[in-house]
Amino acid sequence: MYILNHMNLIDGNGNVLEDAVIIVEGKKIQDVKKNGGHLPEGEIIDMGGYTMLPGMIDAHLHLGGNGEPNREFQMLKELLPTTTLKAYVNARSDLMAGFTTVRSMGDRGFLDIALKQAIESGLVEGPRMKVSGQAISMTGGHGDRWLAPEVSTNGYSAIADGPDEVRKAARYQLKMGADVVKMMATGGVMSEGDEPGSPQLTEEEMRAAVEEAHKVGKKAAAHAQGTEGIKNAIRAGIDSIEHGIFLDDEAIEMMKEKGVFLVATLVAPYNIKKYGREAGIPEHAVRKTEEIIGYHMDSFSRAYKAGVKIAMGTDAATPFNRHGENAQELVLMVENGVKPMDAIMAATKWGSQLLGVEKIVGTVEAGKEADLIAVNGDPLKDISLLKDVKFVMKAGKIYKGLR
Ligand SMILES: [Zn+2]
Repeated sequence: MYILNHMNLIDGNGNVLEDAVIIVEGKKIQDVKKNGGHLPEGEIIDMGGYTMLPGMIDAHLHLGGNGEPNREFQMLKELLPTTTLKAYVNARSDLMAGFTTVRSMGDRGFLDIALKQAIESGLVEGPRMKVSGQAISMTGGHGDRWLAPEVSTNGYSAIADGPDEVRKAARYQLKMGADVVKMMATGGVMSEGDEPGSPQLTEEEMRAAVEEAHKVGKKAAAHAQGTEGIKNAIRAGIDSIEHGIFLDDEAIEMMKEKGVFLVATLVAPYNIKKYGREAGIPEHAVRKTEEIIGYHMDSFSRAYKAGVKIAMGTDAATPFNRHGENAQELVLMVENGVKPMDAIMAATKWGSQLLGVEKIVGTVEAGKEADLIAVNGDPLKDISLLKDVKFVMKAGKIYKGLR
């Protein structure tokens, strides 16, 4: 049993408890209370006045890459087992940065599913994972970038056209162990030859996959950047819009009405713009980023102000968007008008709701698994403190100590 004391607690429910004590028994939180009174026998961990929070959740990342300027080139050159080993290292970086839960939103050859199983079985250490397996893309869509079919078969995406094929592709991902079916509703920034605004999979096609996911209690998510594709995905019954670059008022209203989450991944275009062509990022990605980045931030701010549900995700793996630096997304959220407490909620409780793990993690409460992190100072005053997490516990096990 651990008795963690001498800390302020941000509990993930919007509350701050000063001078808190958290009692951890096995994997779980047994009690959370104000210091004082009777404490059980156990190992006392003095948190040195740090601020404790729930383990953070990154709801959108890709473990096979770590910010390479041209990931498509990397994927073409790299053996799948090499990418898998890198994915393990990247997942560990996420955990050590305080992201005790991550959601993989598409990776090569089911490596995310294999890694999740390896972590759950205790073979290797890493964050709690939710996984999509391969993303579903139409022929020539955002996930179908290779002209040689032998490259894409073991690739990043499952290629499907028409509701029946998309349904079958969704069933296949679910059979392989996907927790969320990821679909490409529009073009994207990183894909050469399409535009973020172009719709791709149709409403009918996406509805088939959403039905399959929901039938077995799983989630469905859409990479959706252009307005029409975003609305197609919402009408198809999607649980989250990923990126959401061009949100108009109607799309925002539809998201609110249906309780659809927005995972904006602001840090992805931020880094492409920051590092640019000089750093080796493909010309088409830099050009598209320059065109969309203003709209993107404006869409995000309007959606947040309108009350759309927000979950924090980074799209880590995109150029210079590295694992372990995930909390930069919270900094950008706050710079774009999000209250620091809400940014923290987006990376904890709200993220847990999107991932369907709200009964297990996301807040610091008795009965939940002990996913706890600590920073030196008050992240409500300086959100960037979350970039320097000093203490990480996942399911009652300490992965990073105070010193
Ligand atoms: Zn992504």
